[in-house]
Amino acid sequence: MKKILFSLLLLIGVSGCTQLNLDTSKVDVQEKEGSFTPNENTLVAHFIDVGQGDANFLELPNGDVMLIDAGIASSGDDIVEYIKDLGYTDIDYVIATHPHADHIGGMSEVIEAFDVGTIYMPKAVSTSKTYENLLETIKEKGKSIHTGREGVEVLNEDNLTIEMLAPVSEDYSNLNDYSIVLKITYGDVSFLYTGDAEETSLSEITKDLSADVLKVGHHGSDTSTTDEFLAKVNPSYAVISVGEGNSYGHPAESTINLLKEYTNSIYRTDLNGTVVICSDGVNIEVETER
Ligand SMILES: [Zn+2]
Repeated sequence: MKKILFSLLLLIGVSGCTQLNLDTSKVDVQEKEGSFTPNENTLVAHFIDVGQGDANFLELPNGDVMLIDAGIASSGDDIVEYIKDLGYTDIDYVIATHPHADHIGGMSEVIEAFDVGTIYMPKAVSTSKTYENLLETIKEKGKSIHTGREGVEVLNEDNLTIEMLAPVSEDYSNLNDYSIVLKITYGDVSFLYTGDAEETSLSEITKDLSADVLKVGHHGSDTSTTDEFLAKVNPSYAVISVGEGNSYGHPAESTINLLKEYTNSIYRTDLNGTVVICSDGVNIEVETER
């Protein structure tokens, strides 16, 4: 029944959380929170389950799509397949929040597989093989890298803005703090993506951090999410991208407890699988794989 409904929605060109149930998708919706009728103006934010790492894909209401991070190297294939299953051959914006292997590992493969538009990376230095491979792939594709830092406007349209809130400084002792922090505002609804930015970087942000949906920093580590930061964000929904049984002990119990002071809508890719959050600019709908 569901599949018929989704095919119908597709036929009339409707996008939304419901796209999850396409035949080719690995995701079968088990849980659902919120409800509205998705239409072509729906923003769809996919928090793809890539184990221990981050991979966030966004279908924007203006028709553009964006990838923020691409998990570890072995996730590259899955991410490419996931995006192709959604029907895309181009990615308008690719953002590598910072050059750690659990964020850029699969990115070379994605850049090779799609026509990519603008690539943003922070001005951080890494000598890792993964990073060097990525730079090589970008060069081979004839693309340049745009520096991601506070104040960069990726999009500034009437009802849709995408702005970078961090990094604010030029130098950090911790590579995580170079993470591009991105705020996406669609109508009345905002999404905040924090990469692995930790307390040092997050505490420097002077711009408005308030957001309805928070992609929790650094896989839920206690070095990223502080009371002070959450008070500024005041999230209604939180998503933690984290691998089951990871050796880092992510997410920290203290982070979960802090988040619970703001919301009970806490989603984890280790428990819920891929999480998809839709918005029409007013309402929010959440679907999870399990
Ligand atoms: Zn990470």
